Amino acid sequence: MPLLLGCIADDFTGATDLASMLVKHGMATVQVIGVPDDGVLPEADAVVIALKSRTTPAGEAVAESLAAAEVLLAAGARQLFFKYCSTFDSTDAGNIGPVADALLKRLGAGFALACPAFPANGRSLYQGHLFAGTHLLNESGMENHPLTPMRDANLVRVLSRQTEGSVGLVPFSVVEQGAHAIRDAMTRMAEGGRRYAIVDAVTNAHLVAIGEAAAKHPLITGGSGIAMGLPANFRAQGLLPERPDAAVLPPAQGLCAVVAGSCSRATLGQIGFARDHAPVLELDALATPDAAALAAQALAWSEGKLSAAQPLVIAASAAPEKVAALQARLGREAAGALVEQALAAVAQGLVARGVGRLVVAGGETSGAVVSALGVRTLRIGAEIDPGVPWTYAEPANIHLALKSGNFGGRDFFLKAFQHV
Ligand code: ADP
Repeated sequence: MPLLLGCIADDFTGATDLASMLVKHGMATVQVIGVPDDGVLPEADAVVIALKSRTTPAGEAVAESLAAAEVLLAAGARQLFFKYCSTFDSTDAGNIGPVADALLKRLGAGFALACPAFPANGRSLYQGHLFAGTHLLNESGMENHPLTPMRDANLVRVLSRQTEGSVGLVPFSVVEQGAHAIRDAMTRMAEGGRRYAIVDAVTNAHLVAIGEAAAKHPLITGGSGIAMGLPANFRAQGLLPERPDAAVLPPAQGLCAVVAGSCSRATLGQIGFARDHAPVLELDALATPDAAALAAQALAWSEGKLSAAQPLVIAASAAPEKVAALQARLGREAAGALVEQALAAVAQGLVARGVGRLVVAGGETSGAVVSALGVRTLRIGAEIDPGVPWTYAEPANIHLALKSGNFGGRDFFLKAFQHV
């Protein structure tokens, strides 16, 4: 099975979201955690290398992304995909601009599109402005994100602050006209010296048309939505056969648990909903600012409550005032790291106690948990809610669902266990 699409994702839940999209559209896809030391990739139509590069210093993110690109290109990838969040999570220092700049340079290419839209999850892009549901990005709750507060919804401006290249817009009026018009507009922009085009999209049909228009681009950047149109490009070239078993996983077993570190509105709502149906522990990192002690509290609480029939929920997630209080005491990064370490230790302890089905809420949180569990690859199964599939984690041999903070319906933490 020759590698067709080589993907680099800036966090672990985002990688799963992308892999899930590709599986759903008929590509055999494996998610690999980090750049493999030996450079060997599993056999698949698409490989998604999951990095934890969203909030690291830009230089580190660039180096890691380039290392991932080398492995993917050496394995024969015909196109690279740089996946970031559908809410364009970044700061003025990066890392979307610096990583995309470096990948373009490595590929000897001068232009790439940028499109985080994902209508199934309410992310739409109109006149270059990103919406989460009915709200502009900067009024969606994302303005309070603990690590990447998004205070500007105009992505042309946001990306311009992260690159020396010039950023243009392919607006809705062009996207509506379909793949040919989009391709022409992007060609004109590239010839006119633009390095990036933010491309509007409010429906899946737009995403498919944009994907078709970018069939020959060496690099595509965006959310998982924009990957929707890519498998068809490979099929049209006769490179991708039908794959009816792309989403089949081994049977699930073991106890059920949820670990949450996302402070997004969606996750806070899911924790609130779960409280009426399952045991929920909310960790107070301000009262106990010590990762090992927090983890010990959580594991002691879990004794006698773990079950194979219903999950328990252990959450560090908190409302913006509480997050701000911890950050004021420890600094933003140290606060995040403390909570991530605590939750990673909780996940390790839960698996040691027989948990075989684990939901993790939060991108950074998932990164910490997956590292602590020593997971190398994730086979991608069926979706629970858009963008969140069950996966089979090896060599830990457990079922994991890595939920990006903003994703999933209110009942996600319960629904997940009805799906495995
Ligand atoms: P999302 O997917 O919503 O972005 P992440 O896990 O990526 O979620 O990011 C949430 C960040 O917030 C993590 O670094 C996490 O450790 C941190 N965090 C979680 N709870 C708290 C808290 N109570 N105070 C401060 N930071 C927190």
